Amino acid sequence: MANINRKVVLIGTGMVGMSFAYAALNQSICDELVLIDLNDVRAKGEAMDLNHGLAFSNSSMKIYFGDYSDCSNADIAVICAGVNQKPGETRLQLLQRNTTVFKSIVPRVVSSGFEGIFLVATNPVDIMTRVTYELSGFNAAKVIGTGTTLDTARLRYLLGTYFEIDPRHMHAYVIGEHGDSEFVPWSQALAAVQPIKELVESNPDRYCMDDLEKISADVRTAAYEIIKAKGSTYYGIGMAICRIVRAIFNNENSVFTCSVRLRGEYGLRKDVFIGNPCIINNGGANRILELNLTDDELEKLKSSYEILNDNFHSIEF
Ligand code: NAD
Repeated sequence: MANINRKVVLIGTGMVGMSFAYAALNQSICDELVLIDLNDVRAKGEAMDLNHGLAFSNSSMKIYFGDYSDCSNADIAVICAGVNQKPGETRLQLLQRNTTVFKSIVPRVVSSGFEGIFLVATNPVDIMTRVTYELSGFNAAKVIGTGTTLDTARLRYLLGTYFEIDPRHMHAYVIGEHGDSEFVPWSQALAAVQPIKELVESNPDRYCMDDLEKISADVRTAAYEIIKAKGSTYYGIGMAICRIVRAIFNNENSVFTCSVRLRGEYGLRKDVFIGNPCIINNGGANRILELNLTDDELEKLKSSYEILNDNFHSIEF
């Protein structure tokens, strides 16, 4: 990342995009933030509104409404454009519509001369990340989706409450599709230093696996609950995007369950993007961490993989 001026272009200034932008301003994670949207009027208004908050932040971020030519020297293109789920709708049902949206976005970002990292949040995020990879022709390390990063955060929050341990010390992951086939590989989950399964087995009067399966189900259905209650979800994902962007700029080698292109891990073919722990730094998704899954967990991952692959091939490009 040659640029010392940390520049992010945000494409899609709806609820998710602006939740990210607001978090980015408050956390001062970049020097320049460009807002692009099909709806110019809205993007201009959002830029004005954020700029009016600058005086109250400790940031001197340059924020402005822009166009695709602004991507040429950007470090990261965050894509949150597209349609979101209506109550009861699955993420996969958005696929064809959002592919059409991406066909009007990704080639224009690439034509600008952009050489940075794509970070995709639009749903169904794993497949939209693969669509971005296909449309851009970029190296897979430089095309990342938010994947199950938010689901993992939701899981850690609930586990932290259950075990009364700070969620930041719950080393558990949600992997697979960011959607109905995602799951928690409990064999790999640690409460601080202790395997969660051991902790449960040695305290049967306090904990049980049924409770943990309920937590896993609550994580899987959280978005449906929020959408039913308030129409859409945005703060959590906005902060997740912000956290990943920070890890890229700071070259952190931090671990997130981003959506990344498998490179033969788990004996699976190399073309599917799926949520799995990976190391994020200024080169993008640099390394994928292959988990030592049980046979049952591997079956669940394969099933999620097949769903993502089949749905990708159902797209009419
Ligand atoms: P929204 O409707 O509030 O915003 C979408 C924005 O995209 C709008 O401003 C719209 O004008 C813009 N847009 C549409 N077509 C465009 C185009 N061709 N070019 C540029 N801009 C275009 O929706 P939202 O609530 O912000 O959700 C955005 C996406 O994020 C949805 O797909 C949603 O499902 C997804 N999402 C993902 C996660 C996650 O964990 N990855 C979580 C929540 C929402």
